[in-house]
Amino acid sequence: MKTIGIIGGMSWESTALYYQALNRGVKTKLGRSHSAKIAMISMNFQEIEDLQVAGKWDEAAAVLADAGVKLRTAGADFIVIATNTMHIVAPEVEKASGLPVLHIADATGAEIGAAGFKKVGLLGTAFTMEKDFYKGRLAEKFGLDVLVPEAQGRSIVHQIIYEELCKGVVRDSSRDAYLKIIDQLAGAGAEAIILGCTEIGMLVKPEHCSLPVLDTTLIHAEAAATLAVSKSDQLKC
Ligand code: GLU
Repeated sequence: MKTIGIIGGMSWESTALYYQALNRGVKTKLGRSHSAKIAMISMNFQEIEDLQVAGKWDEAAAVLADAGVKLRTAGADFIVIATNTMHIVAPEVEKASGLPVLHIADATGAEIGAAGFKKVGLLGTAFTMEKDFYKGRLAEKFGLDVLVPEAQGRSIVHQIIYEELCKGVVRDSSRDAYLKIIDQLAGAGAEAIILGCTEIGMLVKPEHCSLPVLDTTLIHAEAAATLAVSKSDQLKC
């Protein structure tokens, strides 16, 4: 079995979900007492958030690249960056570590393609909803039409992620705000919603939602578990 290298702690609330999903995924595939082989570097999220707010993406890239190098030394065979947003620096992590990064947008795009959706709504941090590293990849590699909320909706989604979900706070009023935004995306033609931030699954579950939801934490972890137990070294997404 391959060793999964996790760059986590962004936030730890969702890294805990990854840890469970990776181990459950391997157990489901191999049975008996099998569990995932994992090496992890867990960040102090405040340090990363400060760099994001300051727009210091080069410094953030250096911090995550250093984590990637340490994971290689620890025996990781590939890397899982356990956040959507910080895939902004995935190329730098890959280059510094010499290890493949299992890209969360690729795992998600493959899942959307398999489900047959063409037009999808995307919820995530402002960085994920507004920059091109994520939407652009889904459009170019998977031919998807990706809708994001209008400015006020994006601001609400972003604020709830940082002020509540990354701190482990789950509020009914915030879920209602998300569901309203999801309904607007449905009205604009979205066939499904990407929960494109690894904490949103704590707030919005499939049973709450009028559209099918694609929880990137679970999708990414499942892709990683599949790769870990496969004989192939190829990233399949
Ligand atoms: N975990 C979140 C994500 O998936 C947000 C935290 C971060 O900025 O990394 O984007």
